[in-house]
Amino acid sequence: MYDAIIIGARCAGSPTAMLLAQKGYKVLLVDKTGFPSDTPSTHFLWHAGVARLKHWGLLDQYESTVQRASLKPPPPELIKLFAALSRNQAETDRFFGTDAGTVSMQEFFAPESLRRIITSS
Ligand SMILES: Cc1cc2nc3c(=O)[nH]c(=O)nc-3n(C[C@H](O)[C@H](O)[C@H](O)COP(=O)(O)OP(=O)(O)OC[C@H]3O[C@@H](n4cnc5c(N)ncnc54)[C@H](O)[C@@H]3O)c2cc1C
Repeated sequence: MYDAIIIGARCAGSPTAMLLAQKGYKVLLVDKTGFPSDTPSTHFLWHAGVARLKHWGLLDQYESTVQRASLKPPPPELIKLFAALSRNQAETDRFFGTDAGTVSMQEFFAPESLRRIITSS
C-alpha cells in the first residue's frame, strides 16, 4: 500500500516523489519508459532548476552525470585492451604500473606488447 503513486519519472515526477519520500511517505514512482532515455529537449537547464538541484544537494551528482554523458567511448583498440586486461591479472598489474611509474609506458603501449596482451587472453 502506498501513500502516493506518481506516474512519470522526469522533471515533475522525480522531485515530487523524492520530496514526499523525504517527508516519510511511502511512494511508488512509475514510468512507462526505461531510463536512461533520451527526450526531445535542447538540454538547457534554467537557473531556477540549478538552484533547486543545489538546494536538494543534487547539483554535484547532476554535473558528474553530465560529464559522463558527454564522454566519448574509448577507441576499439582500447576496448579490446581493457577486455584482455580483465582476464589477465599480471598484465593488469603492469598496466597500473605505468601509472605508478614502475613499468615503462613506452614498453607497455608498444604495438607488439599490446598485440601480445590482446591475443594471449
Ligand atoms: C522540443 C522541446 C525542447 C525542450 N527543451 C527544454 C530545455 O532545454 N530546457 C527545459 O528546461 N525545458 C525544455 N523543454 C520543456 C521540458 O521538456 C518540459 O517542461 C519537461 O519535460 C516537463 O517535465 P514533466 O516531468 O512534466 O514531463 P515529461 O518530461 O514529459 O515526463 C513525463 C514522463 O511521464 C511518463 N508517462 C507519461 N504517461 C505515462 C503513463 N501513462 N504511464 C507511465 N508513464 C507515463 C513519460 O514516459 C515521461 O517519462 C523542452 C520541451 C520540448 C518539447
